[in-house]
Amino acid sequence: MTLSAVKGFKDILPEESKRRQKIEETARNIFASCGVEEIRTPILEKTEVFARGIGEHTDIVEKEMYTFQDRNGQYLTLRPEATAGILRAVLEHKLYNTAPVLKLFTMGPMFRHERPQKGRLRQFHQINVEYIGSSSPIADAEVVFLAYEIVRQFTDEENLLLEMNSLGCPECRPLHRKDLLLFLENNKDDLCEDCQRRSKVNPLRVFDCKNEGCQAVLKLAPVIKHYICPECSNHMGKVLDALEAFGIPFVQNPYLVRGLDYYKRTTFELKGRGLGAQSTVAAGGRYDGLSTLLDGPDIPGVGMAIGVERLLLLMEEQAEPKSVDLFIAALGSEARTEALYWLAYLRRQGLKVEYSLEDKSLKAQMKQADKAGARFCLIVGEREMDEEEAILRDMNTKAQETLDLDDLPEILVEKVKSQKSQGDE
Ligand code: ATP
Ligand code: MG
Repeated sequence: MTLSAVKGFKDILPEESKRRQKIEETARNIFASCGVEEIRTPILEKTEVFARGIGEHTDIVEKEMYTFQDRNGQYLTLRPEATAGILRAVLEHKLYNTAPVLKLFTMGPMFRHERPQKGRLRQFHQINVEYIGSSSPIADAEVVFLAYEIVRQFTDEENLLLEMNSLGCPECRPLHRKDLLLFLENNKDDLCEDCQRRSKVNPLRVFDCKNEGCQAVLKLAPVIKHYICPECSNHMGKVLDALEAFGIPFVQNPYLVRGLDYYKRTTFELKGRGLGAQSTVAAGGRYDGLSTLLDGPDIPGVGMAIGVERLLLLMEEQAEPKSVDLFIAALGSEARTEALYWLAYLRRQGLKVEYSLEDKSLKAQMKQADKAGARFCLIVGEREMDEEEAILRDMNTKAQETLDLDDLPEILVEKVKSQKSQGDE
């Protein structure tokens, strides 16, 4: 029996790797333009980083973490999200002393033991941004801007829906909580088991329930919007004004909460139409209380995560056409040896050059050139070597010309480059 990958863990094959590279490259360029720098933290952390940093009564910590004891008996966890680990690193290295506000990004795998389905894996990937050290509403808006700007490069903007909400703060949230608890108690018979349990330990999270029955009941529940204090309301207003100035369309969703305990004030989700139950492509918010939960000084922060697999689902499925500048079809040992010199030279010049690793017939090599999507094909066999020339075939027009072997690589570079610049016009 052949071995297979672990359930919910997926191989990323070359075709998909290409699409991911494109996402990563786009994100890196956008981060560079906004002065956001990369941080890479370990995939494994002490369990308490997440237990404290995410909150014990969350789906993640209660039932989704990959936790185990190592050979020394220490409890370790594969990171289910990025923020807690990044903040741990910022505190450990006192990075907050190096700049008034840290603007950080990271990308990589996250691990959650969930039921695998379309857009939901056990190893999935995120692009994360954290702005640490600023309470400014503009920081919130910039973080939303980054999520929107990256995602919008890969789908029609009409497919996107940005939802904004405020979760209030430790000042105003208790008032809401009191009324919400009362409401949940009065309606408990109509709530699912999970929500009945959540009502007791983390009542805000009932809004996150995906059960339709619960959703219907909760439409009548008191929402934080009606309880938030003037400071929180002012903050929210400024975030929304900044989004308008950035030209980013949004709607307010008073029922929007996040799965994590540490969120405060701004919370948002960017949804893609047509992704079904896994519609959230990016999500985030403000987490001012988190650093003290990790024993650090009180440092405000705001961040977001883009789910790369969900973004891939949003992107058009069409594969990128393959493109190779030149295919060298060499036949016979003398020509094939000579071809290796050209191959190295041309590749070092930045051209995409392919070559058959086997000494196959001309017909077979031409077929390979076609398949590779070669723009030009250079043909050299024994006869050409004797006459010190080679044939260059334009694979689009099928026109052929004979080139002298003297200066051949330089001529090829010219040909390809001038062809490309014509193509760009
Ligand atoms: P959901 O409600 O879909 O479970 P969540 O609230 O648990 O999402 P976050 O913790 O906010 O998600 O993670 C941010 C983003 O990471 C999500 O919006 C989604 O795009 C992506 N994501 C989360 N969990 C998974 C997963 N198991 N597989 C693939 N992507 C995921
Ligand atoms: Mg989840």
